[in-house]
Amino acid sequence: MSITTRFAPSPTGYLHIGGARTALFSWLYARKHGGSFILRIEDTDLERSTQESVNAILEGMTWLGLEYDQGPFYQTHHFDRYKEIIRQLLDQGDAYYCYCTKEELESMRAEQMANKEKPRYNGKCRDLKEHPQGRERVVRFKNPTEGVVTIPDLVKGEIVVANKELDDLIIARADGSPTYNLTVVVDDMDMKVTHVIRGDDHINNTPRQMNILQALGAPVPHYAHLPMILGSDGARLSKRHGAVSVMQFRDDGYLPEALLNYLVRLGWSYGDQEIFSIDEMVEYFRLEDVNVSASTFNTEKLLWLNHQYIMNSDPAHVARHLSWHIGQLGIDPSEGPALMDMVLAQRERCKTLVDMAAAGQYFYIDFDHYDEKAVKKNFTQGSGEVLAKLYDRFAEVTSWEGDVLHQIVAKLAEDLGLGMGKVAQPLRVAVLGTSVSPGIDITLKLLGREKTLSRIRRAIEFIKNLN
Ligand code: GLU
Repeated sequence: MSITTRFAPSPTGYLHIGGARTALFSWLYARKHGGSFILRIEDTDLERSTQESVNAILEGMTWLGLEYDQGPFYQTHHFDRYKEIIRQLLDQGDAYYCYCTKEELESMRAEQMANKEKPRYNGKCRDLKEHPQGRERVVRFKNPTEGVVTIPDLVKGEIVVANKELDDLIIARADGSPTYNLTVVVDDMDMKVTHVIRGDDHINNTPRQMNILQALGAPVPHYAHLPMILGSDGARLSKRHGAVSVMQFRDDGYLPEALLNYLVRLGWSYGDQEIFSIDEMVEYFRLEDVNVSASTFNTEKLLWLNHQYIMNSDPAHVARHLSWHIGQLGIDPSEGPALMDMVLAQRERCKTLVDMAAAGQYFYIDFDHYDEKAVKKNFTQGSGEVLAKLYDRFAEVTSWEGDVLHQIVAKLAEDLGLGMGKVAQPLRVAVLGTSVSPGIDITLKLLGREKTLSRIRRAIEFIKNLN
């Protein structure tokens, strides 16, 4: 059997962490089995769906690299098809018009509550012989009243629901528009989806959807319901917990692979392995190994993973992502060292690309002030002289290489009988405005001759004017 999965977000907001994990698991399952992965935009709620959200979802999928084989399909393009199916269900006696007014439904509910019964539609219009004219009407699915629906859930195991627990749900509203359960069923059927992988907030819909599929004579797909993602306080992950939009993680300096790796471990495990390449994820992923219980989002662990990826990925790849962040700072990366060299110089110390861009920006543009504390500590009248001597020696260098530059600093320290720090620290502050930077040899090499010399000159002037 060829496998087809789908990710079916409603475009009512950005692509969030929970949605991205659902997308990833559906994508992995399709990839693992050489199947097809569909992106379906469930945009039938015209009031809440926005083009902006559609764009945000597409952007998130692209950034994560979760490419789809079919779609994006838009449910709003399928209204005729939904109408056709609603008609079919009416014609074959599996759906009926319901004329109950809001007031009637409310009093039905009040009565059931008073009798300590579960509120549900009581089937009043189910077998109407006479149809009132000119009354507003909805269409309800005629749910079987007997027997049970068994969901052989691939994550949660078998779930059995009695049909008498399910009332006749509305499949078309008074204006004729189809409801969620109907549109999902029609598309899953038409798109020949074999595996529905989605959040367990949909579990109550599943037996209803299975009943509709059965009424349509369509094959029932396999279902896998993924457990929730919780915030550190145990409540369902939401904006309150900080970043939950996938694109926010890009903005905060995460690599997409790090986020994918984090997401795959959020509710799935393979022994105690933490780091997975995409190929390994595809190879090892099994729905049977998805946890049954909810998992907790842990920002610290994500940050750790991000650092691992920054340190161990191909520096050219990291540089491509860094380039975006450098661009965000309004910096032209051609005004300084190759970004790949920047990555190699900074990757041990920077856990995010935002940190790396911030730490590296003054290799490209001038800083406008020195860090105050660094000045206090490292800029003394004596350091002005040290810098002047360094300037003279650097000015004579013909080969601007790390080891040569390092030698000059070390030799001057020796000549002046000073510790290395007494020379290297003022130099750092002079060239980058702060005392935090990679090794002095790498720093100067990356900065280049011209910037180094002009910044030392500037620092000498600055120190002269200090007192
Ligand atoms: N559109 C639904 C949602 O965003 C998902 C429907 C489904 O996966 O069946 O929650």
